[in-house]
Amino acid sequence: MSCLFCKIIAREIPAAIIAEDAHCLAFRDINPQAPTHVLVIPKEHVPSLNQMTDPALGGRVLAFARDVAKQEGIAERGYRVVLNTNAEAGQTVFHLHAHLLGGREQGWPPG
Ligand code: AMP
Ligand code: ZN
Repeated sequence: MSCLFCKIIAREIPAAIIAEDAHCLAFRDINPQAPTHVLVIPKEHVPSLNQMTDPALGGRVLAFARDVAKQEGIAERGYRVVLNTNAEAGQTVFHLHAHLLGGREQGWPPG
């Protein structure tokens, strides 16, 4: 298995895991871009949104990100959930992941 995030799910490489359920895992981004920067991933390996065949998987990732935002205390202030998809959007790890960003003012449009 060569996927970095699958290795984090399998506990083969360490990560700062902050939440987990049967379908999803949340851990802190190693290079945070905001005071709260958490990655929410499905435990099933799906390379990107382009290959996501089961829309329920996307719904679980979104709901889990929302729950982690509450857990992190940023739900009321506000937060952003971002899925970078493929090269032009800056995707570097090809295991679908949602960035949960919060704890600071977010600019719009994103860069
Ligand atoms: P993306 O560029 O959307 O594919 O996001 C990949 C994210 O994974 C980046 O924000 C990286 O900082 C993050 N990342 C890469 N390796 C690790 C790791 N070992 N633990 C936590 N986050 C990581
Ligand atoms: Zn994977």
